Amino acid sequence: MRVRFAPSPTGYLHIGNARTAVVNYLIARKYDATLVLRIEDTDLERSSKESEESIMENLRWLGISWDEGPDKGGDFGPYRQSERLGIYREYTDRLLASGSAYRCFCGKEETEALKKEAEGSRRAFRDPCRDLPAAEAERMAQAGKTFAVRFRVPENEIVRVKDHIKGTVEFNSDNIGGDFIIVRSDGMPVYNYIVIIDDALMQISHVIRGEDHLPNTPKQVLVARALGLPVPEYTHLALVLGPDRSKLSKRHGITSVVNYRDSGYLPEALVNYLAMLGWAAESGEEIFTADQIVSQIELTGLARSAAVFDFQKLKWMNGVHLHNYAPERLHDLFVPFIRGAGYDTDGIERKRIEEIILLLRANCELLADIGQFAGIFLDEVPRYSDEASAILREENSRKIILAAAEAMGPLEGDDFGERLIAAVKKATGAGGKSLFYPVRAMLTGMLQGPDLKASIPLIGIEACRKRIQYCIKAFCEKT
Ligand code: GLU
Repeated sequence: MRVRFAPSPTGYLHIGNARTAVVNYLIARKYDATLVLRIEDTDLERSSKESEESIMENLRWLGISWDEGPDKGGDFGPYRQSERLGIYREYTDRLLASGSAYRCFCGKEETEALKKEAEGSRRAFRDPCRDLPAAEAERMAQAGKTFAVRFRVPENEIVRVKDHIKGTVEFNSDNIGGDFIIVRSDGMPVYNYIVIIDDALMQISHVIRGEDHLPNTPKQVLVARALGLPVPEYTHLALVLGPDRSKLSKRHGITSVVNYRDSGYLPEALVNYLAMLGWAAESGEEIFTADQIVSQIELTGLARSAAVFDFQKLKWMNGVHLHNYAPERLHDLFVPFIRGAGYDTDGIERKRIEEIILLLRANCELLADIGQFAGIFLDEVPRYSDEASAILREENSRKIILAAAEAMGPLEGDDFGERLIAAVKKATGAGGKSLFYPVRAMLTGMLQGPDLKASIPLIGIEACRKRIQYCIKAFCEKT
């Protein structure tokens, strides 16, 4: 079994394409298949090297590895379509020689006009060059007249596509839209033509791709037929839609993998979520590692209906994966995000950073969430949130702040926090929220955040002393 992921390097890796890559990767591992990475870069204007590199980098980040590809080599290379033009030329010559394709000398505008005319009179569009005698076409080409090459679509023929999800899908060749271009007038072959040549030459046994490619498939099957090439088994994955059930796009939320990474998503969570878009475990469980999915997923068990991309759920899933991470891996994951929030971590002892991260992980769904809380430990004095300021302005808080200053005086030792709270409680009679909100606000600057008892020793006794004095200045000395 050989499968492939065949991105067009015309931009960042889109989440929909990442999903196709993830499914190919999981299925390849499941069935011990070879995964080929093929770069479909014959659209020279839109393709770029940077995009190819960033797609590969994003795939690696997701944990997807391939067996053959432009960077890896393999027996079926080259793996960039732009490096295979000679191969396609041979096939084009064959199609021209057998009459399955013909040269079309009409310009774009001319063709458009003819198409419109055919539509108006409800006739199927027929390219006038279709019936040019071969010798005549040859002569015109020799004379230097530019031409595109069109595939001669047979009339009223049923093309059957067998698909592991959709079953057998039948297309009538008359609905394909006429003789399609396989080589543009600039000499570049087009996707629908070369994809099937490459699938055959690279001995791809199973094509797994998005359902948006299903309407293209009959064209590819017809080309294969005309060339006597084998047709792979198809699996067209149900579409991924935005919450309003239109095609998933930027206006729904983040759509490029690189932005997910930069926002602090974990590759494990994305792989889990993307796999679950078109597959469900029998047990109903939702949190899986790639290995666990591999052991359960089956090519014939993928979903038929479109999946709605649930951004909230992905975020939740990210939080769950984050909490499952081994503590020793957290430092390297979080530090870039702490830096990104403006804190210089270089001067801080690694052990302290690790303790802060371990505590704050419970408050994070995304790695970037740590930026909201890091200041509790890393700022000199708190930046009070509006809610915290409102609480600290209350009369009850004034008593608590002053009692805290009083209690703090003689305190020392690692457990000073517990004794501080006990002393304030005793002095003011406050308890529950009316005790903990002001204390939390005073020491951390916010009302939500990590566990207070665990936070206080991490803030440290001297910093707490300083924060209480600062709080007195800010809220108790105004009148
Ligand atoms: N290059 C195509 C794309 O990026 C994929 C082709 C295929 O999977 O057949 O949409």
